[in-house]
Amino acid sequence: MKICELFGQGRTVFSCEIFPPKKTSPVDSIYRTLDGLKDIRFDFISVTYGAGGSAVVNQTTQEIVSIVQNQYHIPAMAHLTCVGAGKAEADAIMEQLKADGVENILALRGDINPEYPPKTDFAHASDLVTYIREHGDFGISAACYPEGHLESPDLVSDIRWLKAKVDAGAQHLVSQLFFDNEDFFRFLERCRIAGIEVPIEAGIMPVLGKSSIQRMVSLCGASIPRRLARLLARYGEDPKALREAAVAYAIEQISDLIAGGVDGIHLYTMNNPGVAHAIADAIPSIRRF
Ligand code: FAD
Repeated sequence: MKICELFGQGRTVFSCEIFPPKKTSPVDSIYRTLDGLKDIRFDFISVTYGAGGSAVVNQTTQEIVSIVQNQYHIPAMAHLTCVGAGKAEADAIMEQLKADGVENILALRGDINPEYPPKTDFAHASDLVTYIREHGDFGISAACYPEGHLESPDLVSDIRWLKAKVDAGAQHLVSQLFFDNEDFFRFLERCRIAGIEVPIEAGIMPVLGKSSIQRMVSLCGASIPRRLARLLARYGEDPKALREAAVAYAIEQISDLIAGGVDGIHLYTMNNPGVAHAIADAIPSIRRF
């Protein structure tokens, strides 16, 4: 099933992201993650793509999406990046995905990892979107940034390039994490005014550690509203208290987004099924909207 077909069915799509466990993790850890997530009944699961492949991870993105799709019977979406894959790699990956019955790709530019020289066949995600559209029969998704991409001079040019990415063939967008819903609602309105009509899922990341969120925020440019800064200042050194506060914060964000008519919620699980459950189990009725 193509991801874009999940939308417009009268309820909010609920999806999540996982990442391939590093070589230092136990080899079965992806199964533990997926066993923990399967009862949440996500509409689809996406799997991130990093440089280095099987040299750095237990299972590659392609191997995990195949497990999600064929062993857990959950629609899967493989991330793929321009910096990590040139045309030859993209061809090989598309062939493998097709053979495994995986029908969806999230096309990204990727961030440069100094340890791995970037591939240069595709400069922007829109180039990869075009290539996938022309060389395979995949549902194609792409990323978007409610507060603007860090490299963008302003939101207007960011939305202009986003429109170009959708015009190139992206059928569905997943947003970067954000902590202030007003940023997302404003962004959504601007997208619709700009003629971007595809479903846009809101990316939600529960804050699981003070230092990890500071690192994440510096990498992706999301801002921390005062309300969240207060929680971090008060509970940041107490993991249990912070977890409770973070789950409550994410639940409130999600219920407000769904009330505001968002197309979908994409939960960045950080491979932590316990937190994903705590959130999903608190909103069974809200999820029906
Ligand atoms: P693009 O769409 O190419 O945009 C990058 C910048 O270039 C933007 O500032 C944009 O405005 C500008 N731009 C776009 N097109 C043009 C053009 N034609 N001319 C001039 N400027 C242009 N990274 C990974 O490495 N692996 C992952 O698995 C991964 N998953 C992600 C999932 C989500 C949902 C999100 C939001 C991000 C993810 N990232 C991942 C991070 C992402 O790769 C980075 O944010 C990267 O810096 C930008 O990727 P993009 O696909 O949005 O790039």
